[in-house]
Amino acid sequence: MISSVLPTYSRAPLSFVSGKGSWLTEADGRRFLDLGAGIAVNALGHANPVLTKALTDQAGQLWHTSNLYQIPQQQALADRLVDASFADTVFFTNSGTESCELAVKMARKYFHDKGQPDRVDIITFDGSFHGRSSAGIAAAGSEKMTKGFGPLLPGFVHLPFGNHDALTAAITDTTCAILVEPVQGEGGIRPVPDQCLKGLRDLCDSHGILLILDEVQCGVGRTGKLFAHEWAGITPDIMMVAKGIGGGFPLGCVMATEEAASGMTAGTHGSTYGGNPLGCAVGCAVIDTVGDPAFLAEVNRKAGLLRQKLEGLVDAHPNVFEAVRGAGLMLGLKCKVALGEVVNAGYAQEVITVPAADNVVRLLPALNITDDEIAQAVTRLDRAAAALEGAGDG
Ligand SMILES: *Cc1c(COP(=O)(O)O)cnc(C)c1O
Repeated sequence: MISSVLPTYSRAPLSFVSGKGSWLTEADGRRFLDLGAGIAVNALGHANPVLTKALTDQAGQLWHTSNLYQIPQQQALADRLVDASFADTVFFTNSGTESCELAVKMARKYFHDKGQPDRVDIITFDGSFHGRSSAGIAAAGSEKMTKGFGPLLPGFVHLPFGNHDALTAAITDTTCAILVEPVQGEGGIRPVPDQCLKGLRDLCDSHGILLILDEVQCGVGRTGKLFAHEWAGITPDIMMVAKGIGGGFPLGCVMATEEAASGMTAGTHGSTYGGNPLGCAVGCAVIDTVGDPAFLAEVNRKAGLLRQKLEGLVDAHPNVFEAVRGAGLMLGLKCKVALGEVVNAGYAQEVITVPAADNVVRLLPALNITDDEIAQAVTRLDRAAAALEGAGDG
């Protein structure tokens, strides 16, 4: 008999009842060190007092009105994001998937309104992940996500990751945009090198097409800059954001230049919940915290510390781990043994990691994880790896 919860996830037998900072308490009382942060969502940890206050203050006042009216909290968050980035304008959503929908619509509408309605094709890359809607799965294109869900939304061209010649050859007079994650998340923590992001920007400029960045996972301080593309010194035309921006409250957005957003006039798009007072009150508190240069400097320092310790872990367990990769506090451990075994061995040591493709274990801790917690995390991962070695044949 089907479970009352639609069984689309194979869930770990863990049920958390409370959280504080980087710690989660299981129903049986065990305390887990959380290096997953709800897949890069709990950017400021669990039950962060600043976010809890922002949420409860707003909850006592007004939860939801409608985008039919002015929403001061939404205006405040949009102003902060515009001030802190390349963007001139922001649309608020409830998820990364919903941000993907708008990014695709915006890019196509831009060329439609410029009198180039045939420019509809969006170039994407193998291993990418852009959400689970019809547009999101068509954009990613993997058989795992798309099989059985046809007909797929047309207009996506899938290219191998990191093949420059294939990319140049794929741009035609029906191309409207390139869509890429600066650091692939689900695909196994694969960063696009800075010079390649620069190359993508140049390619888009020389062909007059739009660059759409999916920073749903790598944005909002995760890599040590407010947005990951800042490391490459480039800016996109359109950017998708979600996950960390709500700190656990469902919130996302699409940020864009005035030019790229020019087709999105009144009546062309909407969202019932998107940008409601509750979500935006929390989003303002997240951006005020993460956008502080001193906070980001700490993220970078801790990222260096974690990475150094993980390099040591890989050296100590060459039969379990192959390499560390990633950027900032978005790190991956490429494994030599089955990924699920590593994640499960972590659970046994009360440390939470997140599986990704390419046999990579993701570490996406809260951005305010402490030095002591980083040390404890690596100690637990070390014990998990030792347990796996002990269980093996050699
Ligand atoms: C998680 C994710 C999405 C989808 O976001 P949802 O909030 O799950 O809809 C899209 N793109 C990237 C890069 C993601 O990591």
